[in-house]
Amino acid sequence: MSETVNQNETPLLEVRHLRKLFPSKAGFLKEKTFIKAVDDVSFSIMPKVTLGVVGESGCGKSTMGRSVLRLIEPTSGEILYKGQDFMKADGAELRKIRSEMQIIFQDPYASLNPRMTVGEIIAEPLNIQKKFKTKEETRERVLKTMEVVGLNPKYYNRYPHEFSGGQRQRIGIARAIALEPSLIVCDEPVSALDVSIQSQVLNLLKDLQESMGMAYIFISHNLSVIKHISDRVMVMYLGHVVEMADKNDLFSNPSHPYTQALMSAIPLPERHSSRKKIILQGELPSPANPPSGCIFHTRCFMAQDICSKEEPEFRDLGNGHMCACHFCEKCQNQ
Ligand code: SF4
Repeated sequence: MSETVNQNETPLLEVRHLRKLFPSKAGFLKEKTFIKAVDDVSFSIMPKVTLGVVGESGCGKSTMGRSVLRLIEPTSGEILYKGQDFMKADGAELRKIRSEMQIIFQDPYASLNPRMTVGEIIAEPLNIQKKFKTKEETRERVLKTMEVVGLNPKYYNRYPHEFSGGQRQRIGIARAIALEPSLIVCDEPVSALDVSIQSQVLNLLKDLQESMGMAYIFISHNLSVIKHISDRVMVMYLGHVVEMADKNDLFSNPSHPYTQALMSAIPLPERHSSRKKIILQGELPSPANPPSGCIFHTRCFMAQDICSKEEPEFRDLGNGHMCACHFCEKCQNQ
């Protein structure tokens, strides 16, 4: 599975055939099997661009995001950061690349150390990377970063429990941007927040991207959020990428039956079409024992005989609109 990259541009990040398998013991005899959390995922991301990643929970999107940063070591595949082999990087080189790639976590309650003050939390990556020689310089950067994310600098010595969910997520964002990274993996950063706060945090992320020029891999199960923030969108199902396209193309012309089903669940005023709701039958299959042929065939409303036998190619339908279905063209006209 591969995506076309414009030869004239250098991607910030290229991921090729990424796999992450987790060993598991299952069944009566407890035989060793592998859960294929991420299976043959390839994509590239240009500087200052937001790649939205969407799919049901359990589809492997968070594992993919963490594997790309090597917070979880991938089982196989290639990760090139600015053309450099990130999988082989270690020591000082690994530390340098890590400083340029950060993460914002979903849960602003669990992701902040309750024993550290806001100032200490935001200073932590700066200290790990030995960014500044003096404490005063570090403090100045922390105060400036607090201001940038809309936190009053007078809260420098307060603890996370003294803040609301939205403010805590601002602390998490400040920690992620303190080193001025080029890429941030945003792993469901607004899912745990009230709806009224979600748009404030999304707009903050957009403004920061505008002013600091970062690229985002933005992971969410919520297509409305993905539509609001993304330039390009990747749809994942059972560890695989099933469709990828520029946002407007994907939302106006979803070509994979799974994407169509996801889109049909968006509330009507936000949808591009009046397609009727598609209810997917059955449960998400186990990633330890994925279906043969097309991984979606056990739930697909368009499945034919060939679907359980042959894996569809992930192919370009034009303008970089990639889709893994034997009948993409037919689906497009649905
Ligand atoms: Fe459905 Fe077949 Fe297309 Fe898979 S290949 S998405 S089962 S129609």
